[in-house]
Amino acid sequence: MESRSPVRTVNAYAAPSATEPLVPTTIERRDVGARDVLIEIRYAGICHSDIHTVRGDWGPITYPQVVGHEIVGVVAEIGPEVTKHAVGDRVGVGCMVNSCRECENCRAGMEQYCLKGNTGTYASTDRDGTITQGGYSTHVVVDEDFVLRVPENLDFSKVAPLLCAGITTYSPLNHWNAGPGKKVAVVGMGGLGHMAVKIAHAMGAEVTVLSRTLSKQDDGLKLGADHYYATADPKTFEDLASTFDLIVNTVSAVIDLDAYLGLLRLDGTLVNVGAPAQPLPVTVFTLFGNRRSFAGSGIGSIAETQEMLDFCAEHGIVPETELIEASYINEAYERVLSSDVRYRFVIDTATLAS
Ligand SMILES: [Zn+2]
Ligand SMILES: [Zn+2]
Repeated sequence: MESRSPVRTVNAYAAPSATEPLVPTTIERRDVGARDVLIEIRYAGICHSDIHTVRGDWGPITYPQVVGHEIVGVVAEIGPEVTKHAVGDRVGVGCMVNSCRECENCRAGMEQYCLKGNTGTYASTDRDGTITQGGYSTHVVVDEDFVLRVPENLDFSKVAPLLCAGITTYSPLNHWNAGPGKKVAVVGMGGLGHMAVKIAHAMGAEVTVLSRTLSKQDDGLKLGADHYYATADPKTFEDLASTFDLIVNTVSAVIDLDAYLGLLRLDGTLVNVGAPAQPLPVTVFTLFGNRRSFAGSGIGSIAETQEMLDFCAEHGIVPETELIEASYINEAYERVLSSDVRYRFVIDTATLAS
């Protein structure tokens, strides 16, 4: 009972090397296996990680490489053993497309923390030995267990960034119980930060944005922040000392960690979701005060990602986005690097079709 469709060649935008602009190309997608879903991609978000990856900032990769791990589309074909998705369903794919499924963390439903390393949606070695290719493409084939359902009431052209920026901020807010009576600070008002503000507000927390300047204050307050402070002003750190239950740091650069830890009240936690390439130095004495914790958090599990999508559907939350054509990707990268986007670029993959 062999009912597999053949490997197909699909349009994509790929990085030919670490130093060249992305170019239109074609790539091959594997045949639709028994438990695979073929997705016709409609929209793909641009994440800062895409840029770090293609430029080799996080280590050498194999070229050409297609990136993109904020993917939404429509199911075009399913394998014979697929039960979770049907042709025509609106679905999404985030940062991972597989894991070992056998280790302690996978068995606990925490496949993002797979002890053998989850299989990333791009630039990762797939189970067949090929390098995974991401969402700047017209189609992708993914195991059904790593495909999410996208609720109907979420604007399809805006929803894609929930698959990385959304879950990356939802997971720590959820884990550290952001909610009524909790004071949450969000450091940075970018792609991740603006999602953290919306989600923490919807969870019922009192939300404060800590941004370098007040240039995005109007946006922050509109998106759900209760307070907004400039971190360039040293007085901010005096006024807010020992205030927060939770601080979510979305900044991918070295910050004065001790200064931010000083803003935590008793048993407060500062969790990093930003990923600076350099170490963040911390003075242990700062942690002694108020029994503070410094933590990290990586994306979220598949189950939690579905929970996040359903939560956003219930609360009418979608990212703030700028829809672009594929030919604009390289310019969009420059704008992401100069923080000139409010707050996430989304590629209309129909512009890859010809
Ligand atoms: Zn990402
Ligand atoms: Zn595992």
